[in-house]
Amino acid sequence: MTMAKTLQVESGDVPASLASRTEAVAAVAAAHADAIDREGRFPAEAFAAARAERLLGIMVPEEFGGEGASVGDTVDVCYALGRACSSTALIYAMHQTKVACVVRHGRSSPWHQDVMRTMAAEQLLLASSTTEGQGGGNVRSSAAAVARKDTHIELERNATVISYGEAADGIVTTARRADDAASSDQVLVVFLKQDYTLERQIGWDSLGMRGTCSEGFMLRASGSTDQILPDPYERIHAETMIPVAHLMWSGAWTGVACAAVERAESFVRMVSRKSGGQLPPGASHLTKAKSSLRALRGLVSSALERYEHALQDKRAIGAVDFQATMNLLKVEASEQALAIVMSAYRACGLAGYRNDSEFSIGRQLRDILSSPLMISNDRILSNMSAAALLSGVPKRLRD
Ligand SMILES: Cc1cc2nc3c(=O)[nH]c(=O)nc-3n(C[C@H](O)[C@H](O)[C@H](O)COP(=O)(O)OP(=O)(O)OC[C@H]3O[C@@H](n4cnc5c(N)ncnc54)[C@H](O)[C@@H]3O)c2cc1C
Repeated sequence: MTMAKTLQVESGDVPASLASRTEAVAAVAAAHADAIDREGRFPAEAFAAARAERLLGIMVPEEFGGEGASVGDTVDVCYALGRACSSTALIYAMHQTKVACVVRHGRSSPWHQDVMRTMAAEQLLLASSTTEGQGGGNVRSSAAAVARKDTHIELERNATVISYGEAADGIVTTARRADDAASSDQVLVVFLKQDYTLERQIGWDSLGMRGTCSEGFMLRASGSTDQILPDPYERIHAETMIPVAHLMWSGAWTGVACAAVERAESFVRMVSRKSGGQLPPGASHLTKAKSSLRALRGLVSSALERYEHALQDKRAIGAVDFQATMNLLKVEASEQALAIVMSAYRACGLAGYRNDSEFSIGRQLRDILSSPLMISNDRILSNMSAAALLSGVPKRLRD
């Protein structure tokens, strides 16, 4: 993964690399991470910095004023932010998933082209609404339908969870195509802040990821048919929503796991220094954590390579094997990230358990516990049972 893109900074001709801009935002996110977690508030400081460094619109194509950053570049940003503040990283990951949907599936639509220009110029933050009513993580089913009168549309949706809904500049939501459409006949619609109201139904006092402010709302939106992405959601889901969401989330979670490993390493070093080079009994857990982190980074990187390769090949992106890889990436990455944080926690022992220690793993552990639930791994695994049976077992080690 590379961060090759550069941006002309206003003050002169010296280009600021995406890596250095990311570092600047991560430093702000890290400085406020404990307060964000304690107070359960939106990471406003980190997103002000992200806007100032123009990190929100990096994936918008250059022709619309963005930088045309790749999914790989953006996953790198998620990882860097995950090391600093899990909530900031997850919000950034969710936002960029929505941006990717607009960029890939709205390119031919004048309304979405305009939105891309605004996204780049004003560094808009987009939120996501897929969870509805009691439907849980069944993203491929919607209850509320888009009501149409000529070119005017309206949507009223019981949006059980919209992370950072109040802080966002727009919401990208799934909906049933029309009143008489089946629940799986969905569209994806972009509404900007002036198009909707949010009536809070439920707050967000959670174990972790407290800064995502994932509250529940009644979403009431209106606009024009132009705001509906031209591709059916079924296609957007398979080509962009699932692969990009799972890559971005995995990047963020791997960053969270890395933060826990860094703490465990500092702890083991500190103990060793204080005891004349003697390693603490938990040091082997650090070895395990580091080895698992290496494997997880490899998993995310290889999935990313597959995705970037599949982007050039329409048949590959629809293939069962590619879809399985992208779906299972989420399951594997979340389980492995959680296991790594647990290993780091065990390496630190009591120092990791305490909230008042510089080696505390509490925040990372609470945050990463959300990862297997965020579209439940059980749901994904059970949805894929039939496909897994069809795909067979490889006979050779390297295929
Ligand atoms: C931090 C965070 C941020 C989020 N942000 C957003 C957001 O911005 N927008 C949004 O729309 N949603 C968001 N969500 C919600 C998310 O997308 C899922 O909808 C939600 O996590 C599913 O919730 P659930 O566990 O109640 O539901 P369910 O999916 O119903 O799962 C409940 C339990 O049922 C079991 N289960 C469910 N289905 C099966 C099955 N087929 N086989 C076996 N067992 C099954 C599992 O054990 C699961 O734990 C967020 C979630 C989290 C954790």
